[in-house]
Amino acid sequence: MEESFDVIIIGAGATGLMAAAQLASKGNRTLLLEHNRQVGRKILISGGGRCNFTNRIVLPNDFHSENLHFAKSALSRYTPQDFINLVESYKIPYYEKKLGQLFCESSAKDIVDMLLAECKKYGAEIRLGQKILSVEKVDEQFILKDFKQSFLCSNLVIATGGLPLESLGASDFGYKIAKQFGLKTTTTQPALVPFVLFEDFSILSGVSLPVEIAVADRVIADDLLFTHKGVSGPAILKASLFWNPSDSFIINFVPGIDLADLIKKMKLQRPKVGLENYLKEFVPSRLIEKFKERYSWPVKILADLTFEEIERVATQLSAFKVTPRDTEGYRKAEVTKGGVCTSELSSKTLEARKVPGLYFIGEVVDVTGLLGGYNFQWAWASAHAVGEAILPWQD
Ligand SMILES: Cc1cc2nc3c(=O)[nH]c(=O)nc-3n(C[C@H](O)[C@H](O)[C@H](O)COP(=O)(O)OP(=O)(O)OC[C@H]3O[C@@H](n4cnc5c(N)ncnc54)[C@H](O)[C@@H]3O)c2cc1C
Repeated sequence: MEESFDVIIIGAGATGLMAAAQLASKGNRTLLLEHNRQVGRKILISGGGRCNFTNRIVLPNDFHSENLHFAKSALSRYTPQDFINLVESYKIPYYEKKLGQLFCESSAKDIVDMLLAECKKYGAEIRLGQKILSVEKVDEQFILKDFKQSFLCSNLVIATGGLPLESLGASDFGYKIAKQFGLKTTTTQPALVPFVLFEDFSILSGVSLPVEIAVADRVIADDLLFTHKGVSGPAILKASLFWNPSDSFIINFVPGIDLADLIKKMKLQRPKVGLENYLKEFVPSRLIEKFKERYSWPVKILADLTFEEIERVATQLSAFKVTPRDTEGYRKAEVTKGGVCTSELSSKTLEARKVPGLYFIGEVVDVTGLLGGYNFQWAWASAHAVGEAILPWQD
């Protein structure tokens, strides 16, 4: 059996569903293929089940990519407000948690239902449990085959996402298609992911505190959480996006203060206070206990500390160097850093420069957002760009 469509999209996650609705709304005969038995499984678990579907402010600097300018075109043509308008048109209740992060009030399912309703409204067809075994391009047509039939289309959109959570349907299909058609991909690695450390910090497991992390050319301020295996929390997840294997980063456990300067002043103002007790005013006591033992801190009152001891303690707390053993991998990562090389794609249409009619959108592309709704905004915006680019064939 053989069926023909204007556009076929592979992958019914956030990007694929949005693209299917956008493309069908332009009058394209659109087919969306998903190998899971359910669409949008990552949307459903995202944001702790409430889906942080966008951020009020989205800037190029909120992303990692070999070319930070690449995402600008799509992001400027479909803004957070455009998606908020869509959400509001479906009367989905939402709220701002912090730092512009918008979440569903009741459930992430509201977003999946909205995208499905959009697909239905414009007549995009969705087929589930659909595994594509081969893709080839003959003349102007793409021919997709499963074990019993062929699908023909003049435009093929790859929206198969990244590698985290194979149990939810993640696959390397998109990267393989890119390679098959001669397109470069950048190195991929798990990101927005906790780190495993060489040193055992499990005694601090559960301790959380605000920190500042200097990683590569970024400084990230947010909360850090010690785990049984190492470190996690929003500051660490964000830092993982800019970290490269075997690199180090620096944690400041006392952000916003000059600890050495403060202790020197307190030597005069509160001379009888013990060093340990004074530090507990800034950092959780379990961390102080651990560092005291690790660095053999002097057991002294502030008055008795030498300037050299003060500088040493302050540096140990404000410039703690970490070289992670590894990340916790794709089982715990929220996204894949890297993907189809931006130099291979048009930033306006997301079409492969070398292969007319072939498009890559969403997480499969080397555009990866920080924690905070940026990855979904890239999904919506890149889907919209493709929706603007592909128009039905006019006789
Ligand atoms: C736990 C978790 C929480 C997250 N929370 C947030 C959040 O709150 N806010 C945010 O902005 N981002 C969040 N993210 C990231 C966000 O989910 C992704 O960046 C986004 O889903 C990417 O959309 P996508 O459509 O490109 O890929 P996906 O959503 O992964 O969709 C890809 C689809 O393609 C299908 N597929 C794969 N291979 C094939 C194949 N060979 N044939 C057919 N179908 C295939 C998959 O089954 C899947 O349905 C979170 C991620 C995780 C893992």
